[in-house]
Amino acid sequence: MSAVSRKDVMDVLQTVTDPERGGDIVSLNMISGLQVSASGEVLFMIEVDPARGPYLESLRLQAEKAVAAIPGIKKVTAVLTAENQNIPGATKKPTQIPGIAPAVKKIIAVASGKGGVGKSTVAANLAIALAAGGQRIGLLDADIYGPSQPRMMGLSGKKPGGTEGKIEPLEAHGVKVMSIGFMIDAEAPLIWRGPMVQSAILQLLRDVEWGVLDILVVDMPPGTGDAQLTMAQKVPLAGAVIVSTPQDIALLDARKGIEMFRKVNVPILGVIENMSTYICPNCGHEDHIFSHGGARAEAEKLGVAFLGEIPLRADIRADSDAGRPVEGGQAEIFAAIATKVTSALA
Ligand code: ADP
Repeated sequence: MSAVSRKDVMDVLQTVTDPERGGDIVSLNMISGLQVSASGEVLFMIEVDPARGPYLESLRLQAEKAVAAIPGIKKVTAVLTAENQNIPGATKKPTQIPGIAPAVKKIIAVASGKGGVGKSTVAANLAIALAAGGQRIGLLDADIYGPSQPRMMGLSGKKPGGTEGKIEPLEAHGVKVMSIGFMIDAEAPLIWRGPMVQSAILQLLRDVEWGVLDILVVDMPPGTGDAQLTMAQKVPLAGAVIVSTPQDIALLDARKGIEMFRKVNVPILGVIENMSTYICPNCGHEDHIFSHGGARAEAEKLGVAFLGEIPLRADIRADSDAGRPVEGGQAEIFAAIATKVTSALA
């Protein structure tokens, strides 16, 4: 195993100079989020003035090349990021990373204010429904705290292939799928710090051979913390879909999610109420376990579109946990939502 240390990497980066600022990128404090894995993979960010971002690709490549020359290093990913963003209350236009997934026409986020509301289930079935409608669709599992797309898309235990630093996404139900869950042990607890989350997600976008896609659906990490906000700023999102359950407490979080995307000028494509009406599998009786209609009312209040209601059903749970798309009436609901999302994007 490689014995390359963070210090080795920093030493080498000290030989790379920023021509305009006239100093090396380490002394200028431009390196952040450095990760060196035991297998010799290196990931770091170079913080730059957003206005200079587009001109600094050569600096990024130079830094990658310098680190790649260290014996024992297998792979290097350097990402340009905007320095010192004043994240809370940001009103600036998103500072997006150039060169992310260039053949992907539109990237949309599926987000929730909190975990456990069915965001991943919705992201998977929405992607499948969009693909069934004839579009070229990808699904990026950016929920790196609990990547569940390998399981939901029926790809548990599979590994993506690839050559020369480019990863080939897997494919299921007509959708190209990539998840950090393919790379790590799903049982191993992971502790991610903000910058690591960003670099891991950006790497999944940049280093995956997505090919031409009409829409890439991103299953976001739950919540509205810095990691989510930065992601919303850095990735050129064409829109966001917010998933909520109907009860007040979840809606409060959903509202925070909407506010977050609005702050960074990402259009809200609409809100989906999941786990809406409960339908008893035996007698068909309907009940409102988590209340009902709250998300629709909230969407109206906030002036955003309401995309649809997905019932709370045992077969949805069974299907999603077994890696199958939902069927019958549930598939029709997702098809209708997919149509609304497509027209909101047009
Ligand atoms: P999140 O991504 O928000 O954490 P998941 O999509 O992982 O949530 O869903 C959490 C659990 O709830 C999963 O076991 C999933 O199968 C189940 N689930 C999601 N939506 C529904 C639904 N409409 N009916 C029944 N079970 C659901």
